[in-house]
Amino acid sequence: MEIFKGLIGNEEIKSSLGRAILDKRFSHAYIIEGAYGTGKHTIARLASASILCKNKGGKALPCGICDTCQKILSDNCTDVRFFDAFKIDDVRKIKENLYDSATECEYKIYILNDVQKMNIKAQNALLISLEEPPPHVLFFLLTTDSSYLVETIRSRAQILRTKPLDKDTIFNYVRKNCKTSLSDEALCELIVASSGSLGYVLDMLDEKKSQALLKDRERTISLISAYLNDNAESISTIASLFSLQRDKLKELLQLCLVAIRDLAVTKKHRGASLCFFSSLDDALSVASKHSLQKILGLYEAIERALLELDANVSVSNTLVSILIKKGK
Ligand SMILES: [Zn+2]
Repeated sequence: MEIFKGLIGNEEIKSSLGRAILDKRFSHAYIIEGAYGTGKHTIARLASASILCKNKGGKALPCGICDTCQKILSDNCTDVRFFDAFKIDDVRKIKENLYDSATECEYKIYILNDVQKMNIKAQNALLISLEEPPPHVLFFLLTTDSSYLVETIRSRAQILRTKPLDKDTIFNYVRKNCKTSLSDEALCELIVASSGSLGYVLDMLDEKKSQALLKDRERTISLISAYLNDNAESISTIASLFSLQRDKLKELLQLCLVAIRDLAVTKKHRGASLCFFSSLDDALSVASKHSLQKILGLYEAIERALLELDANVSVSNTLVSILIKKGK
């Protein structure tokens, strides 16, 4: 039987949680930990539908077609409650009817998103519900970082960690399932910027957002080239960025650091995985023209520039100072 039909990647979770659900030996609380957009909510939703599906004898779980599956998968089931930005008031709401039986399903399931944002008071209040939940209640706590949770919560739940997806998996998923006018090259750039987060890529398919991101990547490359090439064109490239807001320049410089890191590792190991450039050829086309020392000098200059921006040096002076101090 196919379990967690529709879940992309995350094979380990698919098999461990899937097996527990098939054997009806699941824990009453799970922490699903992973970066933004790596499928935490999808896993919790599919697990809930698999547990509550009315059609368990079929080829796949959840079946996706019974009433219960349809309600859960569209976030419309009264017995599967989703709480975003979880607060102490929400803990009270959960506690008020924790012991009531489910309305239409065998279990009541609570999916709490971003639990790392809960303060200690709210965490302790939630702990009481987690310590001795009624047998028909199940919790999924979703978080980008479980170390923000008190140890007493972590020890009462099973921790599952989502994994970033590889570039090809995301590329094929988008081409098969999404309508987008992005070229293959632009889509690859978007995927590289996502660090393996399908959710991020789907969000960025919005034309305005993707154009902004691609523009930032273009500016990053031109900024790096301007400094490394050090010719007359460099001055005009740098001058064109004088009107940027301080925060925007910081964002760009952070992106430069990621790209420069790619250039540096490309010089050392051709097989290293890249975080900014979408292909080794792209990285090599820049890296091969400059010495490692020069590339690392620029890295240091940009780190210093970020400190200067924090110390309120103006955007234009910061940009000029990188040009003057680079490689020193
Ligand atoms: Zn079903």
